[in-house]
Amino acid sequence: MSDIRDDVRDTFAELYGAQPDGLWSAPGRVNLIGEHTDYNEGFVLPFAINRRTVLALGLRDDRRLRVGSAFADEVVEIALDELAPDALHGWSAYPLGVAWAFGQFGADLAGAPGVDIYLESTVPVGAGLSSSAAIESAVAVALNDVWQLGFDRQTLAKVGQLAENRAVGAPTGIMDQSASLLGRKDSAVFLDCRSLDSEVVPLGLAEDDLQLLIIDTGVSHDHATGGYADRRASCEKGARILGVESLRDVSVDDLPQARELLDDETFRRVRHVVTENQRVLDTVRTVREQGPTAIGPLLDASHVSMRDDFEISVPELDLAVETAQANGAIGARMTGGGFGGAAIALVSSEGVSRIQVAIDGAFAEHGFGQPTMFVVTASDGATRE
Ligand code: ADP
Ligand code: MG
Repeated sequence: MSDIRDDVRDTFAELYGAQPDGLWSAPGRVNLIGEHTDYNEGFVLPFAINRRTVLALGLRDDRRLRVGSAFADEVVEIALDELAPDALHGWSAYPLGVAWAFGQFGADLAGAPGVDIYLESTVPVGAGLSSSAAIESAVAVALNDVWQLGFDRQTLAKVGQLAENRAVGAPTGIMDQSASLLGRKDSAVFLDCRSLDSEVVPLGLAEDDLQLLIIDTGVSHDHATGGYADRRASCEKGARILGVESLRDVSVDDLPQARELLDDETFRRVRHVVTENQRVLDTVRTVREQGPTAIGPLLDASHVSMRDDFEISVPELDLAVETAQANGAIGARMTGGGFGGAAIALVSSEGVSRIQVAIDGAFAEHGFGQPTMFVVTASDGATRE
């Protein structure tokens, strides 16, 4: 971390010809369990990871905003008064969209000074670890501080989500920003996506000598967007036929009756969401009562449900999960929206390298591209550095 902070400070000074007023950072996140439950007003259990966006910010004496990133060639500049979703494009829509979204939440920016921002990130892009929320959350805490807005973390999460929904145009829920803003070291964030109530749940991974291995398959399927919209539509259809506001209102005990009312495909989509909500609740209870080693079967069951009922897995994800399980993982599942992306495996520390070798070998044997694997730890949320 100290390296990237120095880098960010130095590059800021080179780029803008002045020292920054401060540094802020925010993490990416991984979802331990609770997939496709967010838009059904259900439960999720992500944690903030030890990969972060770090930004330097300097106040200006006019009302212009400039953003730069190691990832981009050009500094993007706009006047505070010109901010609007249509005026923002490309990567800069994430940081500048946050500045715009503050206004939508009633922040009085009439006297706010402009800012220069430069950022770097160690969150891989598009691996399902939410490099986007890391940027939004880092910018949100930084602007909240320097503009002295006094927003609480829950509201900052909504500001980040609005930036992503409207300025970027991605119809995502509030999980990513919540994890990035509310995360705590060695803990997960248990989020109720209906009430937006959240609770920090200590995981105790280190005490049990466990690590979470990310296996990024590198697969990104063209139909990911269509598939996501399709699944959302199935969930809405299921809720309509069952006469509930959302699938949050259906319990595991209601499933036999739901089977009578729904066509087979809709029923299986509903069953995934209903059982996944229950698995999140069970995971929280199990981790508290028995510790993290006991949650393995819940992770495994989550994968089966996504593979067979929700049908969002791909052969690469199945192979990663099966190989991890066959080589001693406590539990494993695909994570994220599906149709590609990453799997996670809960693994004893001494078993990590064996599982990595096994997965590399299995992928080569099947002619799949080499996956990227690394361990993540549960880390603190967004902060001033
Ligand atoms: P993820 O799952 O990683 O959040 P998204 O598609 O939601 O994937 O967000 C990725 C986008 O976020 C990138 O295409 C880019 O526009 C922006 N982004 C991520 N990291 C950086 C960075 N370090 N600098 C600039 N933009 C970034
Ligand atoms: Mg994202």
